[in-house]
Amino acid sequence: MVKAAFPGSFDPPTLGHLNLIKRASRLFDSLDVVIADNTQKNHLLNADERVEIMEQMIRTAGIEHVNIVKWNSLVVDYAQANDIKVMVRGLRPLADFGYEFELSMINKHLNSNIETVFLPTDPQYFVLRASVVRELIMLNGDVSNMVTPEVEALLKKKLL
Ligand code: ADP
Repeated sequence: MVKAAFPGSFDPPTLGHLNLIKRASRLFDSLDVVIADNTQKNHLLNADERVEIMEQMIRTAGIEHVNIVKWNSLVVDYAQANDIKVMVRGLRPLADFGYEFELSMINKHLNSNIETVFLPTDPQYFVLRASVVRELIMLNGDVSNMVTPEVEALLKKKLL
């Protein structure tokens, strides 16, 4: 049984994240989406809001074998404590690669038993990142192909 984790901020969760979760959930026996509950970082949505909306997205999409958890420490420690050997990360444009590669080296240094697996984005989500969604909402731009209607409504309530 191979268990995997998909860690991130998910502030907010996007259709790009959902796509990755769907694809990763088919590759592993279970997938834990680990939502960063990091008080030092200035998140727009608090961790409980991100967990709740992510759960709703996954339920609506009918994706199985996925658990949503929040975690306020090192992701490798979450993995170690839960017998998880694989961490999944998404790759978008080349600029992601440098950052993601470094992060995987740091995690390898912290716990050499845990492997990082990169999944390339599906093409329609190539330029989609959470910060772009937040900016577009503030400028009244169309985000309908980037997030679910529920996420859009929640962000509008927060930002407008
Ligand atoms: P973002 O980079 O959008 O702010 P996170 O930091 O929460 O989101 O990212 C968590 C993980 O999700 C990272 O591995 C990131 O590469 C991946 N990811 C984010 N958006 C996409 C996307 N559009 N396609 C594929 N992977 C993505």
